[in-house]
Amino acid sequence: MKCPYCAHVDSKVVDSRDSETGEAIRRRRECLNCGKRFTTYERIEAVPLYVVKKDGRREEFSRQKLYTGLVTAAKKRDISPAQLEALVEELENTLRGRGGTEVGSRELGEMVMERLRILDEIAYIRFASVYRSFKDASDMRATIEQMLSQPPGTRRPEPPRRPRPRTDESELPLDIGK
Ligand SMILES: [Zn+2]
Repeated sequence: MKCPYCAHVDSKVVDSRDSETGEAIRRRRECLNCGKRFTTYERIEAVPLYVVKKDGRREEFSRQKLYTGLVTAAKKRDISPAQLEALVEELENTLRGRGGTEVGSRELGEMVMERLRILDEIAYIRFASVYRSFKDASDMRATIEQMLSQPPGTRRPEPPRRPRPRTDESELPLDIGK
């Protein structure tokens, strides 16, 4: 288990307990190199989950890979590791909860961005720049403009230049980041 901060491979378990849902064992680990703490979840996976790439290749869904990508996108932003862990956890539960064993890489990326945007818009743009592999600045501007035209937590584009109803945080469809 690589340290999400320094990528060192050795860590010790400092705490271990069942997760709230009882589907996983939550382990608090401390990196033996940098001393930072992080959480891992170990679970019994009856059904593997695959990410189907654009070229049709299938790759097993990796919480760690996703988390590492999020840590990079959230660097120096005001997002805690716990918030990113919660995002990954909620996302995986959503994917598993809907049944099926596959998710398209594009859909997965959009699901991540939808959640990340609620936490931090800069991290969202960074993640999008890697995930959508912007070709140039205008490509990036299009994503930013699209983001600014939609309130976070929605998928439907709103008609432009119309005042939006205020949305309380409690009304957001996602229950993360709390
Ligand atoms: Zn470390």
